Amino acid sequence: MSVERTLSIVKPDAVGRNLIGEILRRFETAGLKIVAGKLLRLTPERAQAFYAVHKERPFFAGLCAYMSSGPIFVSVLEGENAIMKNREIMGATDPAKAAPGTIRKDLGKDVEQNAVHGSDGPETAASEIAFFFRPDEIF
Ligand code: UDP
Ligand code: MG
Repeated sequence: MSVERTLSIVKPDAVGRNLIGEILRRFETAGLKIVAGKLLRLTPERAQAFYAVHKERPFFAGLCAYMSSGPIFVSVLEGENAIMKNREIMGATDPAKAAPGTIRKDLGKDVEQNAVHGSDGPETAASEIAFFFRPDEIF
């Protein structure tokens, strides 16, 4: 294990339900440090760029419309094994299949509006962090 950084997004459904603080609290309680953060709204084009890996998937259009439908809170989480630790705290993609106590189980609405995004590996973490943050915005 080593100290890693990963990108987290509180998605529009969760921002709209006043859940930013509840979600960040879970990361901090688990020992992850928030080393960058901001509220912003993606344009549809920026959402398509962020999720380009999924562009052939049937859910892509709906996902990009949803992710650009309102503000999101993006942050960089840092800590031991941060990438997998964040994925564990988030839970499975579909809230109905997520383990008890995970963010998606407790707070997600459905398989699309599932409250949070988290990078899935070291390469995507690096590219997703750079998508949203300049080096001087990360502490
Ligand atoms: N998604 C969806 N329908 C699906 C699968 C995924 O709308 O059947 C959305 C959901 O918001 C998910 C995102 O697309 O978080 C990215 O999918 P991915 O498979 O990368 O899941 P994640 O890494 O977010 O768990
Ligand atoms: Mg993913």
